[in-house]
Amino acid sequence: MSLLDIYLLGAPILRQETTPVDAITDELRGLIDDMFETMYAAKGIGLAAPQVGRSERLTVIDVDDRQLVLVNPEIALREGMARAEEGCLSIPDIYGDVDRATRVVVRALDREGQPFELDTATVPGSREAQELLARCIQHETDHLDGKLFIDYLSLVKQQAAQRKWKKLRKGDRSLTRSVVPAAVSQHHHRDEEL
Ligand code: ZN
Repeated sequence: MSLLDIYLLGAPILRQETTPVDAITDELRGLIDDMFETMYAAKGIGLAAPQVGRSERLTVIDVDDRQLVLVNPEIALREGMARAEEGCLSIPDIYGDVDRATRVVVRALDREGQPFELDTATVPGSREAQELLARCIQHETDHLDGKLFIDYLSLVKQQAAQRKWKKLRKGDRSLTRSVVPAAVSQHHHRDEEL
């Protein structure tokens, strides 16, 4: 397994539509393993293929120590609404409040290519964990449609986020960042980074 570079805000691939996966190959399973390793090292709870420079419609998630692989996910139902702070591994240190459905039903293929349906309201765990999972699934499927959480902010907040981002980047124009292995990472833990 290896750590992948994470693509940052400004990288064109984050704005492109992904392509549905038509066969789960060994190469793709390797990508899934690498995405999990990269996500854990970056202290995230979700990571979508475009964030590692790939165009497949595929994302990995881990909320409450439950690994979830979603290949070709489609959200079949959204219910309820709550506002909470979100961040993104592709826009580190930028946060914003986003309204999301509190429950989703998602249809996808698993890492073996088997179709399944997941209703976040039936996943064992606290209501908070179920709602965080629903939020994470929405955030990650958005990535697969070229959408980022900052798109939901008001124009004023989007502009403030862009200014803060420019300031944080200090003129650094690179479109990727590398992550350090989890064991030696000193990065402050933020559960909201997806
Ligand atoms: Zn994200």
